[in-house]
Amino acid sequence: MGGRPILTPGLSRLPAAAISAVVMAVLLGLSAWLAGELRKSGRVAEQVRLQQLVDYMQADLVGDIGKKIRDRQRAAASLGRNGLEPQPADFSMIALTLQQTGFYRAVAGLDLDLRIAWLENPGRVELTRGERYPVGAGFAERMEGLIEQTGLAIDRPLPLADGDRAVSWFQPLTLDDERIGYLVTVFAIADALESFIPEQFRRELDIVVRSGDQVLKPVGGELPAELDQWPGHFLLDIDGDGSGFDVHARFSDQATRVAGTQLPALVLMSGSISSILLALALFLGLRNANYVRELEGGNQRLQEEAESRRQAESELAFLIGHDRLTGLPNRSGSISHLDGLIGSCDQAVGELAVLLIDLDRFQDINDSLGHELGDELLRQVPERIRDVLAADDFLGRQGGDEFIVICRREERAAAERLGEAIIHALDRGFMVDDNQIFVSASIGIAFVDAQMSTSEALIQNADTALFKAKTAGRSRCSVFACDMLQRVQHRLSMSHDIRRGVDNGDFRVVYQPIVDTITMDLRGFEALLRWDHEDGRVISPAEFIPVAEETGSIGRLGEFVLRRGLADLAQWHARFEQAPWLAVNVSAVQLQQPAFLSTLKRVLGEHQLPPAQVHLEITEEVLIRHERGHHGSLNELKSLGVQIVVDDFGVGYSALSYLKDFPVSVVKIDRSFVRDIVASREDQAITRTICRLAGDLGMTSVAEGVEHPEQMRLLQTFGCTYTQGFLLARPMERRDIESLLDGARPWSAVLSE
Ligand code: C2E
Ligand code: MG
Ligand code: MG
Repeated sequence: MGGRPILTPGLSRLPAAAISAVVMAVLLGLSAWLAGELRKSGRVAEQVRLQQLVDYMQADLVGDIGKKIRDRQRAAASLGRNGLEPQPADFSMIALTLQQTGFYRAVAGLDLDLRIAWLENPGRVELTRGERYPVGAGFAERMEGLIEQTGLAIDRPLPLADGDRAVSWFQPLTLDDERIGYLVTVFAIADALESFIPEQFRRELDIVVRSGDQVLKPVGGELPAELDQWPGHFLLDIDGDGSGFDVHARFSDQATRVAGTQLPALVLMSGSISSILLALALFLGLRNANYVRELEGGNQRLQEEAESRRQAESELAFLIGHDRLTGLPNRSGSISHLDGLIGSCDQAVGELAVLLIDLDRFQDINDSLGHELGDELLRQVPERIRDVLAADDFLGRQGGDEFIVICRREERAAAERLGEAIIHALDRGFMVDDNQIFVSASIGIAFVDAQMSTSEALIQNADTALFKAKTAGRSRCSVFACDMLQRVQHRLSMSHDIRRGVDNGDFRVVYQPIVDTITMDLRGFEALLRWDHEDGRVISPAEFIPVAEETGSIGRLGEFVLRRGLADLAQWHARFEQAPWLAVNVSAVQLQQPAFLSTLKRVLGEHQLPPAQVHLEITEEVLIRHERGHHGSLNELKSLGVQIVVDDFGVGYSALSYLKDFPVSVVKIDRSFVRDIVASREDQAITRTICRLAGDLGMTSVAEGVEHPEQMRLLQTFGCTYTQGFLLARPMERRDIESLLDGARPWSAVLSE
């Protein structure tokens, strides 16, 4: 422009002040317009991204729900074969499914009149055997039509006790091609969506799921007033009846803040302070150019939108078979690959193996380091696994922390060696954002054989073997064998019996005295559980506690011991002067349950007991294994005033000095050291050191399993504070305790023998 202002002759004659005022106004207007344009295009980009996320979410949900439907169809087909009276093995499998799929709250079999013929109901839905299943008005009439169309009918949402709502899935049960009833699965909606909708979406989006005016997720939420204006929406119509759940989404405030840009505000500011002449030149020069730019801009945005749409579509196609986090084939990708290999098995040589790899205690890593580092670890794990795979081995991610390898080897032993190699490869530790993380993995292996023809069954078997590897102590491989299913079933039926036993009052608590090693005065008791099984056996806690821990009934058992034990302790405190303490065993699973702390507080308060008279015994192994996760809960317990006892000390080979980092006040030396203490100099040295160091650290020591007077004499010379064992007394019934509290000392003569 050669430095010459472009002025029209009319304008050049106006006074300078007027020109400046006009120019300033124009400049401000222009800046506001530019800022507005920027905001608009920001909104378009946000819209496109939201649409992408909603598309992915819909694909995920439809895929996951489809899988569950097929799963229930298989269950219905197999249950139908036994009519309306499932076999014990069927019940075991139903219980396993309910346990593994937290959002299935109940499963029932109905006859053709919708009367409940059998019921498995751990989620405590209000259902009663023999009664008609509660369906919505008009549903019974519509049901057949729906089942005919899609094989599935879904009844309206019902409220559950915990505030969630559940739908009932009805699928036909047939015997010899004849309809005999229905399989109903009660499905907690918010719980299921929580597990179906990946974390990433939940972080970025506000998601509301509704059915009509009922808000299903978030649980107990209200219908937001402007929900219809939320930009993301789709209808999840599972049974094809034209209605279903409306899923609404918008970016959460946090996501909007992160994505938001300060640019428009900056433009507005800098626009107002730019030079008047430049603004004037811009005004005049760009008056026409603006139209052109706007048109061009519009064109470009359209192109960008089309391009990002194309990209989203191709990403969607990829995502259906792949996992977003690792880029590996996902569960459905893995199944199609396996289907292909099984189909061509007849011509192929060698053994086809499926290895299911599950990281041990990954949840602890996630909880302590956060999900982002957990995700990063999950990205690194496949690289390690790949290091030991052959070029045509297949690697996929099943979901969560579970990976799958499908490989062909000349012999089975080679596939087992591959499993070991994977465990070693993962053993080395990972660097994640400056944190060194150690993970171990457990692996279940299953091979294709003549009877095993479907991918699902093969993966199921590998899963059973994986369960075995986990329960055998983790960080190991286990190969599927037919008897494993029986063992899993045995555990499941025991878990059933435990629950029934608790309901029937078949558990009782016995008390074993703990005495002062020198004065032999009674100081405390350990509460120990006993199970009088209805078949007449007394089952040892060593047998049922691990099953109760695995299957979740430990919470109720633990609460029972706590209530019974503390009620007895309160009575003893009320009636006797020299009141003892009570030691209660607490398992790792209980420690992780937030309810444990509140129950303990409540029971202590109910009985007005001094907390220091309650000792909680936690095994050394648990203390070491969950070092990080338990620190918080141990400190909370300690601050209540209860004493923490480390039980079975010494077997974990941890240094005693390590204990000073925990709020521990009593060390209980493991029975195995006491057993050979008379003959083994080594055990003597270990026990003596533990007693001395415990004293130095301000803790007391207890020796358990003392059976002979010589053991007791040695413990006296070692300075062990307290002793417990059959030599002094066996675990006793409540009614036999009172004479001890009255002053009787049946053990007073044991050392004079
Ligand atoms: P623990 O906590 O180490 O309990 C001591 C075990 O040693 C008890 O076995 C007791 O009967 C046994 N014992 C005591 N004195 C002697 C002795 O002189 N010689 C021998 N050979 N054994 C002796 P019990 O009652 O069978 O309990 C076994 C384990 O089951 C307990 O080991 C504890 O870990 C667990 N347990 C018992 N009750 C509970 C409970 O209420 N909750 C939890 N979580 N675990 C429990
Ligand atoms: Mg104990
Ligand atoms: Mg012990």
